[in-house]
Amino acid sequence: MITVENTIKWLNLFSDRIADHKDYLSELDQAIGDGDHGTNMARGAAAMKEALNGKAFKTVQEVLKTAAMSLLSKIGGASGPLYGSAFIGMAKIAAGDETDPAELVRAGASSIQHRGKAKPGDKTMVDVWLPVAEALKSGKLTVDTINQAVQSTKPMKAKKGRASYLGDRSIGHLDPGSVSSGYLFETMLEGGLL
Ligand code: ADP
Ligand code: MG
Repeated sequence: MITVENTIKWLNLFSDRIADHKDYLSELDQAIGDGDHGTNMARGAAAMKEALNGKAFKTVQEVLKTAAMSLLSKIGGASGPLYGSAFIGMAKIAAGDETDPAELVRAGASSIQHRGKAKPGDKTMVDVWLPVAEALKSGKLTVDTINQAVQSTKPMKAKKGRASYLGDRSIGHLDPGSVSSGYLFETMLEGGLL
């Protein structure tokens, strides 16, 4: 069950995971983008952690909305508005007493697609969000499923975002936003939300 406590735990774990892998995320972005994904994400994640701690939240929706605002205003780049939209989408669906994790992630994925217009196979974070939503729906999200989705972006040719300027040269590299999204879902498992 998703609660205020485990949502905050999840997002703190996510923030720490991003901070620990900041250089790696930027290295990935160096290969097919402009090399800022790690610094972008670390800035947003740190702001989110600060906004979430030391405050009392009554609902999961409030937690997700607060996270959305930090991510939206602090990440920057293409991924700021996309993560921001994802969290706003998740906050909207988390209105009731009990939120289904599959619906939560599905709502996040839809918001990302609404904002960025990427389809499955375009080598974006959508290629992690959608399979994770599917796995949750069938009740079997594992670290392996998440890793497979992240790895699936390697042979893809980028059709959206900065990496798409490289055309065929984007093939053979992991998509940085998919790797950071992978951390989001690994820490969701660790946070005990499922
Ligand atoms: P920028 O590309 O502006 O430098 P970042 O480096 O922070 O921003 O983020 C790049 C990531 O954003 C990509 O790896 C990809 O996963 C994601 N991304 C870019 N464009 C889109 C899009 N249209 N839809 C979904 N995700 C996208
Ligand atoms: Mg970048």
